Amino acid sequence: MSERIFIEDLQNHVGSSVTIMGWVAVRRDQGKMVFFDFRDMTGSVQGVALPGSTAIETAKEVKTESAVAITGTVNKRPEKNVQADRQNGNIELQIESIAILNISETPPFEIADTAQVGEDTRLAYRYIDLRSERMQRNIRLRSRFVQLCREFLFKNKFTEIETPLLTESTPEGSRDFVVPSRLHPGNFYALPQSPQQYKQLLMVGGFERYFQIAKCVRDEDLRADRGFEFSQIDIEMSFVKRDDVINLMEAMITESVEAMGYTIKQKPFPRLTYADAMEKYAADKFDMRTEEDKTNGVLAYAWVIDFPFFEKTDDGKWTFTHNPFSMPKAEHVEWLLKGENIGEILTTQYDLVCNGYESGGGSIRAHRPEILKATYKAMGYSDAEIEEKIGHMLEAFKYGAPPHGGIAFGIERNVMNLANESYLREVVAFPMSRGGQSAVMKAPKPLTPEQMIELGIKIDKKA
Ligand code: ASP
Repeated sequence: MSERIFIEDLQNHVGSSVTIMGWVAVRRDQGKMVFFDFRDMTGSVQGVALPGSTAIETAKEVKTESAVAITGTVNKRPEKNVQADRQNGNIELQIESIAILNISETPPFEIADTAQVGEDTRLAYRYIDLRSERMQRNIRLRSRFVQLCREFLFKNKFTEIETPLLTESTPEGSRDFVVPSRLHPGNFYALPQSPQQYKQLLMVGGFERYFQIAKCVRDEDLRADRGFEFSQIDIEMSFVKRDDVINLMEAMITESVEAMGYTIKQKPFPRLTYADAMEKYAADKFDMRTEEDKTNGVLAYAWVIDFPFFEKTDDGKWTFTHNPFSMPKAEHVEWLLKGENIGEILTTQYDLVCNGYESGGGSIRAHRPEILKATYKAMGYSDAEIEEKIGHMLEAFKYGAPPHGGIAFGIERNVMNLANESYLREVVAFPMSRGGQSAVMKAPKPLTPEQMIELGIKIDKKA
């Protein structure tokens, strides 16, 4: 067996005998001859086992989706048989031998057409679903998008830094997922709703330009475009003003999606105030595309700025609209410090909207302790509660915390737009089901009695 050649490189080996490795996508037994489509991660190619060839016996028994190594000669097809619209449509592999590396049972569904397959089946056998053209395309698209953003960030002096998963609750307006502590029975970690506080602490720590492909976990109702877990390109910068962040991030998105061949509807991206957006679209996430733009896969980005900082909760208290760590707009800092006109205070928050979805969002932060404290006062927290919640941030900000701001881009939502998919699970390798069950594996599930004892946990049967 010769060295393995990837299917996309076969064009360079016309006339030679080569070995490819991959899966049997299609097998057509025509009696004397057997035709195949073989597939690897780089594409597909047709193969034929001729009558009397050493491979014909195996060719007749190998089942589709088996993993195989095929040795054969790369032949040019006669002009009349060329399939110009297919990858490798001008060549065919004349099979000399088939080594079955692992046979496949009949898969639970047809990989060529998963659109009709139910969600539960697709997720239970996700590893088979992932072999489909759609999933291969979407997951690679995701990887490419992240790669391009990463390259842009490295080019612009950013450092990639990881922050803890087992941590304290950080407010993003959602419920926490919690993890019991064995060493400290009765105490719990929270999984991060975002790395918000750690990334700000990195600014105090002098890193100035941070990014991370961060996993965020939020216990909120599941929707088509929202799961318990998601990933974001999380960014924070020091010594910046709102427009510095907006301009650099606009360059990152523009360079990345244009390198992938997409067209952007309007550059620079339009900027609308929240008030204008509500008047024009009656929403702060809006779609500016025409029907023609939609057919052509155009991306319509816009920034929304000047959001109200606070809104009323059902019980009449004030809460933050986006992020409690934000800086109010300069002209409203005094109001916040004095606790006046709370409903009219605008924040430095900026959201990036694309094709009706929120692509990203961030703000300039309150880097002076008295401003952050005033935000919590406005929301009705007592001094003791403020100390308990964010005392560590107020303390950190006492030591020359630089002015800073940042943003986060939801990777799934951005890739959904690029892939033209309406469901988050189509751009995630192992997404959860609508009911919150993990793909392939069976979580959530009960702990063993031994684990419960070790963690000091009892379940209230009535619950
Ligand atoms: N922490 C915010 C979020 O996760 C993003 C940011 O303000 O940077 O939505």
